[in-house]
Amino acid sequence: MSDPTDDPSLHANIIGWIHCVREYLEFQASCGTTGLPRDPLGSQGRVEMAAALSEPPASLAPPEPPIETEPRLGLSVNVSAPHRLEEKEAAQVFTEAERTEKLAALEQSVRGCTLCRLHEKRTQTVFARGNGKSGLCFIGEGPGADEDAQGFPFVGKAGKLLDRMIQAMGLLRDEVYVCNIVKCRPPDNRKPMPDEATACRPYLERQLELLRPEVMVALGATAVEGLLGITEGITRMRGKWKLYRGSVPVMPTFHPAYLLRNPSAKHAVWDDMCEVLRHMGRPVPERAKG
Ligand code: URA
Ligand code: SF4
Repeated sequence: MSDPTDDPSLHANIIGWIHCVREYLEFQASCGTTGLPRDPLGSQGRVEMAAALSEPPASLAPPEPPIETEPRLGLSVNVSAPHRLEEKEAAQVFTEAERTEKLAALEQSVRGCTLCRLHEKRTQTVFARGNGKSGLCFIGEGPGADEDAQGFPFVGKAGKLLDRMIQAMGLLRDEVYVCNIVKCRPPDNRKPMPDEATACRPYLERQLELLRPEVMVALGATAVEGLLGITEGITRMRGKWKLYRGSVPVMPTFHPAYLLRNPSAKHAVWDDMCEVLRHMGRPVPERAKG
C-alpha cells in the first residue's frame, strides 16, 4: 500500500490550509491586532473565516454545527448575562481612544479591499457612521448609489427615514452606530450575493468586536441572514429577539426602504424600536411619527 503522506492532493490541501492561516493572520495584523486569544473565532467563525479567504480543504476543515443564535428562554438581560460575562472575560477590553484608533485602522484596511467582485464597481467603500455611544447599532444590507457617492451608510432616502426613527426614539443620530453587511455597493441596487456577504463578514465581525454594541437592530432579511445566518422571512422574524454570537441581542425589523414602499408597516417597526428601548432601559416615547 502506498504511503498516504506521498499523496500530492494531501500536500496541496496542506499548502492551501497554510495559505488560509497566513491570510487570516495578515488580516488580523492589518486590523491592529497584536495577539490572538486561544480560540478567537469559535467553531463557526473558523469555518466562516476560512471560507471568506479561500475554500478550505474539506478533509481538513469539516463543517461544524452552527452556534446557537436563538435565545433559549425568550430574551431578558438575565438570560444573556452569563454569556456576556464569559465573553467579557475572553474579550480584549479597549479604552475609547484605542477603540476609535482600531476602528479607523480597520476602515483604512477595508478601503483597499478587493476580496470580492464588489470592489470592481464601487466609487469608494462605505464603512460606518456614528460613534455608537448609545450602545445601539443598526445593520443594513449594503450601500446604495447615494452611500457609494458619499462614503457613508444610510444617507439617501431610506437613511432619512432611519434618521427620523432614531430621533423619534429619543436618540441623537451620531450616538447610534450604523453599518452594513457589505462595504461596497452591489451594482444596480441588487442584494449582496452570499459569497460577497461571506467575504465581507470578517470586517463586520471585527467592527462589532471593537464596538461591543449593547443591542443591534438588523434591517431587513439580508441583514438578518448576513449577521445570524437565519433565512426565515422577515415578516415572521421581525419583533422577535435573536442573539448574535450567543450574547448580543438582535432585533430583526423591516428595512427602511421597504417602509418607503409600504408605509403601513411603520407601526410594526415602531413597536420593534419600543421593544429595543425597553431592553436598553431607555424611556419609550408615547408615539412617534413615521
Ligand atoms: N440600504 C442599506 O441597506 N444600507 C445603506 O447604507 C443604504 C441603504
Ligand atoms: Fe471587500 Fe467587502 Fe468590498 Fe467585497 S464588499 S470588496 S469583501 S470590502
